Amino acid sequence: MPPSLRALPALQVGFDPAGGDRARPAPALLAGLNALPQGLLLIDRLGRIILRTDRVTHLLGLPGEETPDRVSSRQILFALRLAPRDGRRALARRLRCALEQRRSAAFELAIETACLEIELHPVDDGGWSVSVADVSLRRAAEAQAEERARIDPLTGLPNRLLLREHLDEALARLARSGEGCALLVIDLDRFKPVNDTLGHPVGDALLVKVAERLRSTLRATDTVARIGGDEFVILQTAVSNPGDTQALARRLVDLVGRTYMVDGHLLTIGASVGVAFAPDDGRDADRLLKNADLALYRAKLDGRGTYRFFEPEMDARMQARRQMELDMRQALARREFQLHYQPQLNLETNQLTGCEALIRWRHPERGMISPAEFIPLAEEIGLIVPIGEWVMRQACRDAAAWPVPLSIAVNVSPAQFKSDRLVEMILSALASSGLPAPRLEVEITEGVLLQEGEKTLQTLHRLRDLGVRVSMDDFGTGYSSLSYLRSFPFDKIKIDRSFVKDLASKPDGDAIIRAIAGLGKSLGMTTVAEGVETSEQMQRIRAEGCTDVQGYLISRPVPANDLVALLTRQRSPA
Ligand code: C2E
Ligand code: MG
Ligand code: MG
Repeated sequence: MPPSLRALPALQVGFDPAGGDRARPAPALLAGLNALPQGLLLIDRLGRIILRTDRVTHLLGLPGEETPDRVSSRQILFALRLAPRDGRRALARRLRCALEQRRSAAFELAIETACLEIELHPVDDGGWSVSVADVSLRRAAEAQAEERARIDPLTGLPNRLLLREHLDEALARLARSGEGCALLVIDLDRFKPVNDTLGHPVGDALLVKVAERLRSTLRATDTVARIGGDEFVILQTAVSNPGDTQALARRLVDLVGRTYMVDGHLLTIGASVGVAFAPDDGRDADRLLKNADLALYRAKLDGRGTYRFFEPEMDARMQARRQMELDMRQALARREFQLHYQPQLNLETNQLTGCEALIRWRHPERGMISPAEFIPLAEEIGLIVPIGEWVMRQACRDAAAWPVPLSIAVNVSPAQFKSDRLVEMILSALASSGLPAPRLEVEITEGVLLQEGEKTLQTLHRLRDLGVRVSMDDFGTGYSSLSYLRSFPFDKIKIDRSFVKDLASKPDGDAIIRAIAGLGKSLGMTTVAEGVETSEQMQRIRAEGCTDVQGYLISRPVPANDLVALLTRQRSPA
């Protein structure tokens, strides 16, 4: 028996000792080995093939005749269909090397009919064992999974991964031949309400329809991908004229904005589109995507349902915004926020009835920043929750120390109503300051009632049950102010200052104030006119029946100390 086979004790039992110098496996063993899914080839130290199962013959498609007595490494290569030829040279070289150095080697070989996994292992005394397995099915499943990983299952469109590959290819073409391309990032407007009110199946069906429309408007060489819930991207290739991209952007806005019929519902949504060009707006994928996103942000700010091309100023503006965000995140800890207070005057008694707390940000470099500039950003990034909590606690603390028990009005943002802690936070602010609940007034805008109506109303009722009063701020500027007035028994309506401004300039300016004052009266609500700057305005407001006024005429918003001085003077006019 060849020493090489001593390393394979399991096989020894089956070898025919009568086989002499060249051992042959017993027929029973060969039958067993032939039944294995893997093919097996054993070569002894003299280079003779001592075993070749049928599976090897079949998988490698070898001729069925008797194996030659001795095989050289070249013949082994040949038997493994690795005879040096085009495309296999490197593999053949690697294998020859392994054979010469007596190292194990594994490689994959694609032949016409299958994909084979071949492993060679040196046997202790100089022979070789070779196994051959058909891995075609496994490789096909892997390829399929890989393809699936690049496709959005809902719409069948490429996903972010595949888009990225196509974009990289397009940018490589740009580098090679100067062929330009455009990225159009599309965000659906008003999609969330559809999803929220009609449910996800309807939302999904709508997305599929949007995908079909997008696909229908593209050339075969362009790519449309879905990269997020309601976010799509189009890669337009071979762009030589920005006019073509503009036409596509316009078509997209129009096409997506047409009515859909889904599950018996007539739905209308819109599309905002941001566009960036390569090479003008960037030559690498990240930069292009970022710039297209900036343009999209601009399109949304400009009222949605439109497209914008990237401009370098957008980047600067976004940087400034990001800087503001970073600064704002530290402003609380650095005690950069302050409260100013603006008094309200009752027109009947001519007495101050309360003050509104208005936040100010003393920025270390930029000086005083108005809330109109930073509150919207704070709302967007959720920072309004801790900032609003600080305002509430500080305002309650200040008001508790006033020499006269005026009411204190605090503005509360929609985002604060989303947090479940709002009522507890207000309770805690009242408790720790010792301010009686009826002195606190919460000012909300219509935005608060627009979101999750039921839950918000519950919160408002809980506040009301505690004794806290609730005002409707900026009344008349929203879409359906009247219906909101019906949804909750507000204590106070604050008429937006734009109506007060219109008093002098518009012929029917006072008709609106009169109507709101009348409405307040019949509903038992106080009506405050905001932004009263002149005594003429005050006279007319008094004539129209408003109960209170707030504005520069009475006082500008003043720091806490100045307010205490003002209240003290008022209490004891010397
Ligand atoms: P608002 O609640 O409607 O506050 C009234 C705004 O009108 C204040 O602007 C006030 O300074 C201004 N104002 C008062 N009287 C006059 C006047 O006679 N003429 C003119 N032209 N303006 C007058 P401010 O302080 O810049 O605040 C702007 C907005 O920022 C507020 O509008 C409110 O919506 C928001 N805000 C202020 N502080 C806070 C806060 O602590 N939390 C929240 N969530 N929002 C706040
Ligand atoms: Mg207010
Ligand atoms: Mg207001």
